[in-house]
Amino acid sequence: MHIAGLQKTTLLDFPGKVACTVFLAGCNFRCPFCQNAEILGGCPEEVPEEEFFSFLEKRKGLLDGVCVSGGEPLCGDVAPFLARIKALGYAVKLDTNGSFPERLKALAAEGLIDAVAMDIKSSPDRYAVLTGVPCDMKKIRESAEFLLGGALPYEFRTTCVAPLHRPEDFVRIGKWLAGAKAYFLQNFRPGEHVPAEGLSPFSPAELAAFKQLLLPYIPNAKIRGE
Ligand code: SF4
Repeated sequence: MHIAGLQKTTLLDFPGKVACTVFLAGCNFRCPFCQNAEILGGCPEEVPEEEFFSFLEKRKGLLDGVCVSGGEPLCGDVAPFLARIKALGYAVKLDTNGSFPERLKALAAEGLIDAVAMDIKSSPDRYAVLTGVPCDMKKIRESAEFLLGGALPYEFRTTCVAPLHRPEDFVRIGKWLAGAKAYFLQNFRPGEHVPAEGLSPFSPAELAAFKQLLLPYIPNAKIRGE
């Protein structure tokens, strides 16, 4: 695995666990608001794989979970990497953009993931705008459907970016993911690596209005940090 970064401790990325987050390089999307744009294509390997596993060995008993993020972890065959993490006794949470439902289902069937966070970029008709590439919505929908089926704990989350998101998008997302157990709106955070200009966060009132549009369909919809 090409490890582009390691956050040694997080209380936020894996709900209910004291975890670390490992960032795998590479992604099939080019979201204009990506916070990790520098790791989407080629980038230096920041953490050699053996160093990462040696870190996990030493943290046994101190950490109980590993959040595997990216990039998009499912771009490659991540199964052996996850199996090795699981063999050390850690729970695994996977962050994914939902493009690879077959791989997601296979990892779940093999017992290699304990929880999933799936990005919902926007309403289905706006995915190409938000991801910067043509998208196979059939695959995205298949991943969402699988998670909605309750095979394992999950959350959906949408990073809200002005002016890319419009109120009607949240009505469509609500209809798409009706009844989801966990759905979070999180505000865009401009950073030094965000490539596109002209993007900004929404105001708290705008986020609250988006949530109101979701609630008839997803009563569990929340604003992250609320
Ligand atoms: S899916 Fe995630 S990692 Fe990939 S480009 Fe979009 S925001 Fe960045």
